[in-house]
Amino acid sequence: MSEAFNLNVTKQDFEEKVSVIADEVLSILKELHQENRQQISSKLIAEKMIWRASLKNLFSDTVKSTSNDCIESDYLKEISDALLDRLKDLLPASMTEKLNELKDTIHNKNIANNSQDWLESPVNIIKRHINSLTSRNQELEEFMVLAMQNLSETDVQLSSELSSQKDKFREDRCFADQITENMNTMSSDINVSGNISTIKSVLIKKIVSINSRISEKREHDMLRLKETENTLEEMSTRLFEIKQEADEIRKRSQQIEFEAITDALTGLHNRKGYNQKMSETIAHVNRYKIKASFIICDIDYFKQINDNFGHKVGDLALKKLAALLRERLRVNDFIARYGGEEFAVILPHTDIDGAATAGNGLREFIDNAAFSYKGTQIPLTISLGVSVFRKGDDQSTVFERADHALYLAKKSGRNTVRTENDVMKSEMILDKSVEITESS
Ligand code: GH3
Ligand code: MG
Ligand code: MG
Repeated sequence: MSEAFNLNVTKQDFEEKVSVIADEVLSILKELHQENRQQISSKLIAEKMIWRASLKNLFSDTVKSTSNDCIESDYLKEISDALLDRLKDLLPASMTEKLNELKDTIHNKNIANNSQDWLESPVNIIKRHINSLTSRNQELEEFMVLAMQNLSETDVQLSSELSSQKDKFREDRCFADQITENMNTMSSDINVSGNISTIKSVLIKKIVSINSRISEKREHDMLRLKETENTLEEMSTRLFEIKQEADEIRKRSQQIEFEAITDALTGLHNRKGYNQKMSETIAHVNRYKIKASFIICDIDYFKQINDNFGHKVGDLALKKLAALLRERLRVNDFIARYGGEEFAVILPHTDIDGAATAGNGLREFIDNAAFSYKGTQIPLTISLGVSVFRKGDDQSTVFERADHALYLAKKSGRNTVRTENDVMKSEMILDKSVEITESS
């Protein structure tokens, strides 16, 4: 503060007055700014200042007390300095240089003749500051829009990432929490920092951090995907093996089942298979009233084959007969080795006459077939007994009637067919002959 200025006012008074003027000017500028005045001129400020009571008194005192240009000039310089010092607190650091330049200009220039100049310069600085704030606001807005776009793109990426893997891994939730935390930190950081460069750097840091989290997660997910693919491949291989094992087991069990009902020597059904088929046929006959017949075949003089050619040849004879039976009978006919050299045949949809005809054809076919061993022809014939399934029959009743017929066939000379009807006829004849003998 200038010593020369102490002519009429004390230093303390002077400082107080300068302070009042500076406060009033700043308050006016603030008001104008709030009113959104685009054009702020020193004239406008001066007009406003006239209405300030505090300034009215101050200026009248000052006018009274200052009579000398030099003092007025110093006085104005002091006011300018005070104003510029106040501005220093308000303006960003980047404008300090401008302020200092201005200060120098004011000090070096004789502004006494144009008292408006001293006011003009700080006002221009403020205007520039306001403009700068406006452009900075625009810049901030643009930056925020860009940042929000980036964030929303990130959000979209995250959303799709998260939605596609929603139920997949628990880490996703953790990841989302971290991102949310990042966002929250970012928003609170933005709220506390008013400075655009701080906001910018906070946003950039956070976006970089979010992006690196996303990259980390992508890598992690890729690893997971690879692991999952490997697991799936292993599972697929294992499934294939299991399927093969299951197929093997199924085939084996089918084989076991087949063997359980198959005669090992002839490949025909065995006694167990025979029992199953008989039960089935009896059930069908009883329930659906379908016709079915039964034949029991017995190799004639089979003991002789064993005795003359050996047991092995006897087995070959059994195999040969099985093949001939299969060859001659229909696919739907059921053939089983009942036991020893006896074979049972079930003929579905066939009555007793049809069965007798079929039996006779079979007998003839076997009789005509050649069976030889080491060049020696071995006679192979069968005798057949035929019965028909009747309602109420069980396995033994239908078998017994056929067996009686077979017995009759054997008695009739072998290599022949007899039916249960033949048995009945022969019994009737027998009964009659018994009657005749008894009566004579
Ligand atoms: P018939 O004309 O009265 O039927 O006389 P047959 O000799 O055929 O009947 P018999 O009951 O007297 O003899 C049957 C023989 O069949 C007795 C038995 O040793 C033989 N046999 C039973 N099962 C087998 C077998 O699996 N293999 C062989 N080689 N022989 C068997
Ligand atoms: Mg026999
Ligand atoms: Mg026999």
